[in-house]
Formats: sequence, structure tokens, C-alpha cells
Amino acid sequence: MNSEQREKYSRQILFAGIGEDGQEKLLGASAALVGCGALGTVVANLLVRAGLGRLRIIDRDFVEPSNLQRQTLFEEADAREALPKATAAERRLRAINSDARVEGVVADLTAENSEELVGGFQIVLDGTDNFETRLLLNDIAISRNIPWIYAAAVGSYGVTMTIRPGETACLACLTEGEEKAAALGAEATCDTAGVLNAAVGVIASIEAAEATKLLAGKPEALNQRLISCDVWSGRFQSIRIARNPDCRACGRKEFAYLAGEAQPHITMCGRDSVQIHERGRRLDLDELGRRVAQASTDGLRHNEFLLRFRVPPYELTVFADGRAIVKGTKDPAVARSLYARYIGT
Ligand SMILES: [Zn+2]
Repeated sequence: MNSEQREKYSRQILFAGIGEDGQEKLLGASAALVGCGALGTVVANLLVRAGLGRLRIIDRDFVEPSNLQRQTLFEEADAREALPKATAAERRLRAINSDARVEGVVADLTAENSEELVGGFQIVLDGTDNFETRLLLNDIAISRNIPWIYAAAVGSYGVTMTIRPGETACLACLTEGEEKAAALGAEATCDTAGVLNAAVGVIASIEAAEATKLLAGKPEALNQRLISCDVWSGRFQSIRIARNPDCRACGRKEFAYLAGEAQPHITMCGRDSVQIHERGRRLDLDELGRRVAQASTDGLRHNEFLLRFRVPPYELTVFADGRAIVKGTKDPAVARSLYARYIGT
């Protein structure tokens, strides 16, 4: 640590739980964040300011005006330009703290690319918006022995738990089997129930604190509990979760999500849309833009990362890696047909 860093992080070094040795560890630590929406932006902001050495941000989506209420790294200009969230977050975080090596990756985490994207990081942080991707993260983390932090927020409620392979319960212990799935399978999503930025802030802050303890070399300080809170009713809970000895993931080591047996859902949080993922198919966006412009579509928008156009009542956003997000429908068949018509089969 140089004298500039000693000054920059002085308030954290003064905190007995971290001290100079904890700060040194944090500056040399690495984390992968999957999903950079509400929870992800808050947790990334806190950790980069705290002096995390290296952060990789993986996100498949782009900034929209309805994100700005809670996604604290983004600005109106990012939404106007339809910047990918990973790109906008990387720019902002680099301006916030030049000590951190921040890398935004515009991609959808899948069983196939997970090793490349999160393998080798000390911790994985949950910023996702759906259980399928979380259970994939759980499989990746348990099978590779990487700690990860589960976090979710909807309405005025949020929940988080730190998962350490072999030591704590995992997400499959918590959510799979018997009546547990039903208990947790709340129908509410950000689509139907909305979300308060304050609920996101509380949960993301607990997630960042847990990551700080782990990365600063203070695992004894981890809370070892599932923490939930409702910022509207003021109800806070902390529950110890026992490991399930017969758990599919941490017990029997059956990594169904990693084996690709369970494909992630395509409906996304926060809007009426479907994602289509054409694997291994790179698109020439310039060429596609010329073709689309010849058809009678409107609202054509094009930057180096994506192409967006309207086919009323739908809106298609196409990424260079072949993915497309079709807004205005929840029907995968409609989305697939639009994809075939405008992008190709
Ligand atoms: Zn388990």
C-alpha cells in the first residue's frame, strides 16, 4: 500500500475488523459479479470504493430509463445511448476508483461459458434476477469450491445468504425438495410487484459487507445466517439454515444446472420481454442495420454494442453475440418468429 492508498482507505484501516492487513488483502482480492442491475450496481459501487483489487462484471442487458430509480451506477445519458450495463458500469467504476481493475463483460452466463467467466475468482456475487441463473451459480460455486453470496430483492423485501462450499448450506439446500420450493416460490417478481430502491440498498449493503469480510481475510466475522428484511414493515429476520445431507448440489454433487440439463428461463425481470440466445453466432451489426433499415421498421438505433428497432407492438434489441431481447411479449414463440424474420434462423 502506498501513502495515497493509506489516506484513501484510512477510515477502513481504522476500523478494527479490517486494519491494515485486511486492507492489503482487499487490494489484492478479486470478485466476479453476475448481473449488474439494482443489487449489482450497489454492491459493485461499495466494493470498488472499499478498494477491491479486481472486479469482473458480467451482464447481458442494456440501460433503460426505468432502471435509473435503483441502479445507482447509471445516468440518463446511459439510457439514451442504450449502453450495455456492463460497459456503463465499468466506465463509471473506473472513474470512481482507479486502484480497481474493473472489467465489464457483455454476456449471458451459461453452463458453457461459466468456467471462462467466473473460474479463478475468489468470490462470486449474485446480482441476477432469477432462480435458474442463481442455481447455475450455486452449481459452479459448489463444484469449484468458490464462495458466493446469494441476494434478491422485490417489492420492499430482500434476502441474502453467504454460501461457503462444504461449510454452510447452499442455495439448493434452501430451495430444492419438498415444500421448500413452494414456500420460496413466491409469484412476485419485479414485473408484478415493483421494487423499492431502499430494499435493494439494504440487501446489497449486507452482501458487500459479507464480501468484504471474506476478501479481507476475516471469515470468522461472516454472519452465517439467512438474513431477510422488509423496509416497509420494518421486519428484519436472521435464520440459521442447516445443511441438507442429501442435497443434490452440496451433498450428492449432482450439478444439473452446470450440466445444462436445466436451461435458464428467458423471461426477464422488470419488463415484458423474452431473451433469445443463439449460441456461437456472431452478428455483423452494421450489415444487419442496413437490412433492417430497408424494411419498414422505425426507431432504429445502433451503437457499437447493439442494434435496436421497433416492429410495433414489439421492440427488438440485438447484440453482437447473437442474442436478442424481444420486448412486448412473454411468448417465446412470438419472439422466436420475430428473430427468424429479422435476424435469421
Ligand atoms: Zn446444499
